[in-house]
Amino acid sequence: MPPSDYYDNYPYSSVILANSLQIAVYAIGAYILYLVGTSWVFLYLIYIILLEIRLLRISCVNCYYYGKRCFSGKGRLCSILFKKGQPKKFIKKKLSWKDIVPDLFVSLIPLLTGLVLLIKRFDWILLGLLVVLFFLTSVGNSFVRGSLACKHCKQRKLGCPAEKLFAKKNKSAAS
Ligand code: SF4
Repeated sequence: MPPSDYYDNYPYSSVILANSLQIAVYAIGAYILYLVGTSWVFLYLIYIILLEIRLLRISCVNCYYYGKRCFSGKGRLCSILFKKGQPKKFIKKKLSWKDIVPDLFVSLIPLLTGLVLLIKRFDWILLGLLVVLFFLTSVGNSFVRGSLACKHCKQRKLGCPAEKLFAKKNKSAAS
């Protein structure tokens, strides 16, 4: 990849698209849980906030994009909230599928809840929301990661455990 294809600051369009997708996933998830009860929405939103803080504190502080406009805009946000960490920690971090499970729950919890509700009482709107949520989580996320984020990421060039983990998965799927 020519060096110019790596971004120092991502275009605003990437930030808007990546965040729109994320917010859509959160909003659909929250709505599905609202069908079970408002306290579940509250717990779900707390869970999301904790995950976001965890990401900023564990990864973003050590990332190349700390203080810069990364694809999600969190590099800038992180520099406002937390002190800069050590970039070598980002590269050295060992990541396994186990570490990603908490993030998967953001979609899995509402998807499973929605399925149970559908079995109890069929509803076309709920079915539509489940399909959209599944689509955004699978196709949408891999588009953002593949075409917007990782493709132009300087941290990837320096070393990224998440990218290595996904590359391993793609290799094993191809073989
Ligand atoms: S390579 Fe992808 S996962 Fe890794 S820091 Fe860059 S955008 Fe994030």
